[in-house]
Amino acid sequence: MNILQSLSGIVQRVNTAPDLQSALDIIVRDVREAMGTEVCTVYMADHGESRLVFTATEGLNREALGKLSLPFGQGLVGQVALREESINTSNAQTDPNFQFLENIGEEPFNSFLGVPIVHHRRVLGVLVVQQTDRRSFDESEEAFLLTMSAQLAGVIAHAQATGMLDTSANANVANAEFRGIAGASGVAIGRALVVSQPADLYGVPSRRNKDVYEEIVFFRACVGRVRKDVAKLSMQLADRLPAEELALFDVYSKMLDEHALPAEIEQLIEAGEWAQGAVSRVILSHLRAFEQMENSYLKERAVDVKDLGRRVLEYLQLANREPMIYPDNVVLVGNELTATMLAEVPRKKLVGLVSLKGSSNSHVAILARSMGVPTVMGAVDVPFTEVDGSELIVDGYAGVVYFNPSLELRTSYQEIAEEEQLVSKGLEALKDLKCETTDGHTVALWVNTGLASDASRSLDHGAEGVGLYRTEVPFLMRDRFPSEEEQRAIYRMHLEAFAPNPVTMRTLDIGGDKSLSYFPIEEDNPFLGWRGIRITLDHPEIFLPQLRAMMKANVGIENLGIMLPMISHMGEIDESMKLIRRAHSELLDEGFDVPLPPVGVMIEVPAAVCLAGEIASRVDFISVGSNDLTQYLLAVDRNNSSVADLYCSYHPAVLQALQMIVSAAHEVSTPVSICGELAGDPGAALLLMAMGYDSLSMNATNLPKVKSVIRAFTKAEADSLLSDVMLMHSADSIQSAIENVLEARGVTRFFRDSIRGRDSR
Ligand code: PEP
Ligand code: MG
Repeated sequence: MNILQSLSGIVQRVNTAPDLQSALDIIVRDVREAMGTEVCTVYMADHGESRLVFTATEGLNREALGKLSLPFGQGLVGQVALREESINTSNAQTDPNFQFLENIGEEPFNSFLGVPIVHHRRVLGVLVVQQTDRRSFDESEEAFLLTMSAQLAGVIAHAQATGMLDTSANANVANAEFRGIAGASGVAIGRALVVSQPADLYGVPSRRNKDVYEEIVFFRACVGRVRKDVAKLSMQLADRLPAEELALFDVYSKMLDEHALPAEIEQLIEAGEWAQGAVSRVILSHLRAFEQMENSYLKERAVDVKDLGRRVLEYLQLANREPMIYPDNVVLVGNELTATMLAEVPRKKLVGLVSLKGSSNSHVAILARSMGVPTVMGAVDVPFTEVDGSELIVDGYAGVVYFNPSLELRTSYQEIAEEEQLVSKGLEALKDLKCETTDGHTVALWVNTGLASDASRSLDHGAEGVGLYRTEVPFLMRDRFPSEEEQRAIYRMHLEAFAPNPVTMRTLDIGGDKSLSYFPIEEDNPFLGWRGIRITLDHPEIFLPQLRAMMKANVGIENLGIMLPMISHMGEIDESMKLIRRAHSELLDEGFDVPLPPVGVMIEVPAAVCLAGEIASRVDFISVGSNDLTQYLLAVDRNNSSVADLYCSYHPAVLQALQMIVSAAHEVSTPVSICGELAGDPGAALLLMAMGYDSLSMNATNLPKVKSVIRAFTKAEADSLLSDVMLMHSADSIQSAIENVLEARGVTRFFRDSIRGRDSR
């Protein structure tokens, strides 16, 4: 057999299944055929009962489906699930682990090959093939079944998740639970509003239309526009393209004929679906059908169908007839939420966020933390297009989302939310108190900002300055680069809001997971690519106006600091300084009375740690970007939920690097701050203070919690905790040591998140 073809054919067919049972039925039928065995069966795990249920079969007694089960660990199937390993035996019935199941009809079958179906470390079930002949399945067969099961695990998990929310069958599971990663602490109870990137056929939520007639008229108008566009394109290209290529436009016109795709779409609209949802469903089902075709010419037509679908969808979305009216208590749900999507919802209406992609250090999660919006990231299994309008609970402490919550669950989360409010009221009292230990050692607590609304929130929480103003945030909210004057006005407001306290403005730090819609960057390894200072040095026409805008905004206030991100070479500092001096002298020539502001560098890559002393001797301050530093030191993508367990800022290597940086900088008397998320972790803040950091810059939400903890300890106690943990070799033991100290002091009620762990997986 052509293994790859069989594999991808089966996966595609399974993907088209409307529900879990049909998916499993396709699996057992196709795998049996592909492997030429007599039996193929799937046993699905019921984790509540710790049993494996006989769920789908080709070759055994189908009447017993759903009625028979065996505990984890019992029988060969139970052993496969328990050990998470395959079993391949030529004489199953004599195997000491064999367990006879009545009525299943497996007596004639001697050979047994079972493999576990594992998704995100969780056994979903067991896939088994059996045969009468007494022979072991050979290596290639075993490898095929393993590959099959690994590929199908995600599809099965998705079908299972969709089934939990199957409203049409009225089969909703109460408290349908989806695990992800804790993105921003807090709990939220609200209704899902599904959002997606424009013209994303895969991201359109299913929604009911308000009026079938109006929706069809609207849809036809949009199809009409696409028809016109296609005709125009064809005319424009008529003398440039050969006739056979121009024929493509005829194909497009035929597809858009009212009896073709539009007729199918209208049927769905008539059944109640809104036009966008109907377009997406019909186009995606055609795409799947095309993808299954053997004929490569026909397979290619999938691209045309997709293109047409996108064009129609774009018009439907553009012609957004009414301005969006956001209901109260919105929980934004999306495949990949972005900062822009977040900013579009009025703050008062927004209570939570759920993103399928991304992790706790993705920038959208960082923004959510600064706004205090409970967030779950990496909730990969949420069938997001099906949940629009559903009631849900976001547990941003544990990283869990519950759909269709029972009254009991709702009440208990309501209590947590009320308790939280009491705690934050209690913390308000700290606003005007200094951040000092009980023996009088002080450390400055600064905030990280980006949104205009961050200023008042930060001041309300007692911020003593801004350690990191992410200037890319206002860039992300636009559809073109902001002009120098627009930037000046934004920066001025920020500098004024915090004056006379310092405001550290970071120069544009795009790339990685922050891309501007109007300046797209396509790279295979964006975090190792064109990011931060690398981009701005390559584009002085973008960098210089930003520097000028910052310095102009500083006239008469003089609380600005400029900070350079992603420095990995000394030359980048020299080149940046040249441009900063040039912008400054231009402004002096133009008559602006501005001083050259202090300039600092972020230490975010391992190379900069090694050069910390040299860097510190050349600039006015340094600040550690521990978010990136952790990802580069540990080689763990901060944005990838699959490796979120490995992203750990308490890792001994990270702590050693942090200590090296502060020591090197202090040796040349340069002040050091830290502005990564670690600074806002109350336990870590104690360590950082003990290491000697002069200021800690964090999100406004966490600032009072950090202050309350530092105020509960002496500097000597923090020093002793630091010397203990610096001798430890694992992040887990460091975390436990910190938790024990905090618990003993009775301050844990303030920060449920760091005690329960950021990552619940
Ligand atoms: C960091 O990397 O720690 C940092 C503060 O910058 P950002 O999170 O914006 O990359
Ligand atoms: Mg960074």
